Parts: sequence; C-alpha cells; structure tokens
Amino acid sequence: MKPAAFDYIAPRTVPEALDALADGDRMTQVLAGGQSLLLEMHLERIRPDLVVDINRIPELDHLRVIDNTLQVGALIRHQVFESAQAAPGPLGSLFALAVVNIAHPPIRSRGTMVGSFGWGHPASEWCAIAMALDADIQLQGRQGARTVAARDYFHGPLTTERRPGELITSVTYPLLTEDTGVGFIEHRRTHFCFAQVAAAAVLTAHDGVIREARIGLVNCADRPLRAHAAEQALTGVEIGPPADGYQLPESHPFARAGRIAAEQDADPIAEPYAGLEYRRHAIAVVTARTLCQAANDHRSRSGKSQGDGQ
Ligand SMILES: Cc1cc2nc3c(=O)[nH]c(=O)nc-3n(C[C@H](O)[C@H](O)[C@H](O)COP(=O)(O)OP(=O)(O)OC[C@H]3O[C@@H](n4cnc5c(N)ncnc54)[C@H](O)[C@@H]3O)c2cc1C
Repeated sequence: MKPAAFDYIAPRTVPEALDALADGDRMTQVLAGGQSLLLEMHLERIRPDLVVDINRIPELDHLRVIDNTLQVGALIRHQVFESAQAAPGPLGSLFALAVVNIAHPPIRSRGTMVGSFGWGHPASEWCAIAMALDADIQLQGRQGARTVAARDYFHGPLTTERRPGELITSVTYPLLTEDTGVGFIEHRRTHFCFAQVAAAAVLTAHDGVIREARIGLVNCADRPLRAHAAEQALTGVEIGPPADGYQLPESHPFARAGRIAAEQDADPIAEPYAGLEYRRHAIAVVTARTLCQAANDHRSRSGKSQGDGQ
C-alpha cells in the first residue's frame, strides 16, 4: 500500500523542528531512520498530517562521553554499535552483543538507537538495556528540556512518557567499570524476526562474589523490563567456576535466577507461536544462559587486568 498524503518538512535546527512539531491541530511524526515509521505509514496504521524529518540537524548527530556517561544523539544509527569500540569498556561489548540481533544490516544502517525510544516496542533490545542500566532519556519541547529515567519512561506497548510535540534529543547510559561482565542472548523464530525473548545481563563482582547484578528483559511483558527479583537473588552469590549455559544444574544460582525472572519479574503475553508456558520456560533458560555469558566475560576481563598488572 502507499501511505496517505502527508506534508513533509526537513528543519536544520532543533528549535525549527520543535516549532513544526508544536502544531497542535495536525498529527505530526518525527522521521529518524524511518525503519518503523515508514512501514506503519505504508500499512496506514499511522497517518500523519506532517512528517518532520530530523536527518539534517547536525546537533543531533553526536556520540560523546560526558563524565561517566555515554550520550547517544538522536541521529546515531544502530550500525555504529557493531564495533565494540563505539562505546568505552564493557558498555561497548554489551552494545555489540545486542545490536546484531536488530533486524538486518540495511535496517541497522538507517534505523537509530534513539528512534527505538520514540517507538517504544516491548521487543526493543536497546530499551531493555536502558532499563537494566538505569539510562536517562533527554526530551525537548518548546516549553523546555527534561530528562526522564528509563524506569519511568515506558508505559505500555508503543506508549511512552514522551508528550506530543517533544523531540528525544539523546539517551544517556552510565559507563561500566572493568570489573563488570556483560552478556546478551536472544531467542527468536527466524533471524530477522523480533525477539521472542532476550536478556541483557551485567554482573559486577569482587573477589569472586557478585556485588551487583542487572538484568534487562526483552519482550517479556507489555514493555521493556528490569528483573529486580532475579537480580536480588544474585547479590552476594559466588560467581563460581565457568559453567556451560546449556547444561546448568537446576540448583545453580543462575538457573535459579532464570526461574525467578520468568516467574516473578516477567509478565509475558501469549503469542501465536509461543504460549505462556513456553514463553516462561524460554525466559528462564535465556536469562540463565545470559548470566553464564556475563560471568565468563567477567572472568576474561579480570584475567586480562591481572595480566596487565604483571
Ligand atoms: C523487518 C524489521 C525488523 C526489525 N527488527 C527489529 C528488532 O529486532 N529490534 C528492534 O529494536 N527494532 C527492530 N526493527 C525496528 C528498527 O530497529 C527501527 O529502526 C527502530 O524501531 C526505530 O528507529 P528509526 O530511527 O528507524 O525510527 P523511525 O521509524 O523514524 O521512527 C519510529 C517512531 O519513533 C518516533 N521517533 C523517532 N525518533 C524520534 C526522536 N528523536 N524524537 C521523538 N520521536 C522519535 C517517530 O516519530 C516514530 O513514531 C525492525 C524493523 C523492521 C522493518
């Protein structure tokens, strides 16, 4: 199908974009990478009167470290994060593990990380990582700028805290220290499908004991989720010897945390190819495997830093 007729504007500055978006009488949409919006317009599920194309606004095209955070501007494409060097330390590794699960290369070369926050899909990899890491979302409207924590941002499927007329200018993530191990594993029907289930895991450990665990869940509820109960079950637990994520005994702390994530944190919705029982099982298994991956990453980073010191 062809989209219904719409007006188009390509402002050169943020204030110009905000003026265009502030037209209360018309249904406006921001165009970033267009990888979700244009599909929806072709299907006529979204029929904007005015499309505001932000691709010619240079001030939105930035990726920078500020204090201990990484700020990702609204025009940074998914593809940038295929290199683990795009972000410092373990954060870059986590992004690189996650990004290859987003669609396929042409979509990743156009779609933006920040656009995923504009869209607010429960199966967004970036949004679940933002939940796990307590990221912040920077919004700007004609009335001024504000910052919203990821935990307050997602209200439901494709529904967020963003108000009509507001532009998301950037998303900010805390950097991760070198005593942190990261993991990201996704399960889906075919390579280019959205995730049935995915988990992001971030483990910080000292002297072999987990001091802090952070777990983000993808497509495990009506919005991106943080698995607080599973995280608590891991605090103070020994990271233990390397474990094969595919053959974990049921009593292993990561297997137990996976079951807690599935039963207490997640609130999955049945889908045509995945009933509730199957989805809960998949959440438990994927979470446990991702924790094993993060623990292995922690071991290899600690080994490297000890080696560096010698
Ligand atoms: C076949 C296919 C498979 C896909 N698979 C995945 C997947 O596995 N995981 C995944 O996360 N995504 C997936 N996507 C979506 C893709 O990642 C999009 O790039 C992403 O959802 C939105 O980014 P965008 O820059 O393309 O945004 P657009 O499509 O331009 O915009 C999406 C929405 O967000 C709003 N928006 C965008 N930027 C801003 C901003 N700065 N401020 C305010 N509002 C804004 C728009 O108005 C629109 O409503 C897939 C898409 C396709 C077509």
